[in-house]
This record gives sequence, structure tokens and C-alpha cells, in this order.
Amino acid sequence: MTDTTGHPFDELPLPSAMQANLKQLGYLTMTPIQAASLPITLAGHDLIAQAKTGSGKTAAFGLPLLAKLNPRWFAVQAMVLCPTRELADQVAQEIRRLARAADNIKVVTLCGGTTMRPQIASLEHGAHIVVGTPGRIMDHLDRGTLTLEGLNTLVLDEADRMLDMGFYDQIAYVARQCPARRQTLLFSATYPDGVMQLARQFMHKPQEVKLEEQH
Ligand code: ADP
Ligand code: MG
Repeated sequence: MTDTTGHPFDELPLPSAMQANLKQLGYLTMTPIQAASLPITLAGHDLIAQAKTGSGKTAAFGLPLLAKLNPRWFAVQAMVLCPTRELADQVAQEIRRLARAADNIKVVTLCGGTTMRPQIASLEHGAHIVVGTPGRIMDHLDRGTLTLEGLNTLVLDEADRMLDMGFYDQIAYVARQCPARRQTLLFSATYPDGVMQLARQFMHKPQEVKLEEQH
């Protein structure tokens, strides 16, 4: 695990059930990326954050999307795009842990390399949060098995890696299907041109968080 700051999660405007759950998980103080980004994202702003693997990114975007989520409304309210199935599975698992405080929040992963049918069945049963790879999410949008009218948070996780894998067009396609009124959060270890282009095209006045390299 990465270093944490001295800042406790209690400082944040999170519902008390979520605070209690974080304590149960043993999350006492925030990691640097969490401490720098959560005040911004919980206030509803778009965010571009430089963050490496192992820095605690999932809670940095998972907490704000969960804080906004309405569990009684069966619509996809948040979506996380990841470069690989492995990362999508990790993100989904971590979001489920963070969501334990709320009853019955359903997280569905949508990645390529497996059949569509079980994914379609999961979506039909009602999903609150979708985590997946851009190509497969695009397939579901094309078929109409996934609709995003209720979406209020879009997360691009490991954006530079997604662009390395050639996903620009798929990301752009998916982002264009999202309601214009939404919060967009972008996490990337590096800031190549493509990442800045995504930010310009699909984000609204994003705030930036860059952490100093630790040597
Ligand atoms: P990243 O996506 O940046 O690689 P993760 O979100 O997967 O990192 O977090 C890495 C690990 O650190 C996970 O096991 C997660 O449960 C744990 N973790 C995240 N934030 C905290 C925290 N504030 N306190 C303790 N553990 C944390
Ligand atoms: Mg991660």
C-alpha cells in the first residue's frame, strides 16, 4: 500500500454510513491523491489527476460517484472506463467494498473476450455502476443493451494506457453518448497530447491535481 497523508476521511463531506464503512475497511487517513482530489470531486468539479498505480485512485473516484448515487433508482449512474479486463475487475471489486455501506448497489463489469449474453442479463437486472473496457461498452451502446441517460459520473481511469492501446475513438464514441450534464474525472500517470485532447473535448473546466514525484 502507498503512503497515506495525516488527513483523516472525517474531514470530507461524506455520508456517515460511508465514513463508518471506510473505518471498517481500515482506511483511516487519505493517500496523497485522495487528499488532493476528494475536496474537488466531492464539490462536483471535473478533475484531471496525475496518479500512478497503487496510489489509491479507486477511492479517489469511487467515493464521489458513490456519494451521488441513488440506490433506489435502477439506472446506470456512473461508468468507469479502464484499459484492461484485469484493471476493470480490480476497480469493480474495490467499488463494491466502498459501496458496502449502501444496500444493493450493483456494479457490472463489461469487458471484451467473453460472451455478451451474461453481460446483457446483468444489465437487464439493473445496474447502478458499469466498469469496463471502451470497445465492449461501445458494443453494448450500439446494441442498445446499455443506455446512459441516467449517467452523472464518467471516469477515465489510466487514460494514457487506454490511448496507448488505441482506444481514442472508442472513448470518444462512449463519451458522446453520455449526458452533457455530468461530472468527468480523468486519471493518468502521464499527460501525452491525446490525454489533453480528451480533456479538451470531453471535460468541463477541469481542475488539475499533480503530485510531486517521490524519490
Ligand atoms: P490504484 O488504482 O491507484 O492502483 P487502488 O485504488 O487499487 O490503487 O488502491 C491500492 C490499494 O490501497 C488497495 O488495496 C486499496 O484497498 C488500498 N487503499 C486505498 N486507499 C487507502 C487508504 N486511504 N487507506 C488504506 N488503504 C487504502
Ligand atoms: Mg486502479
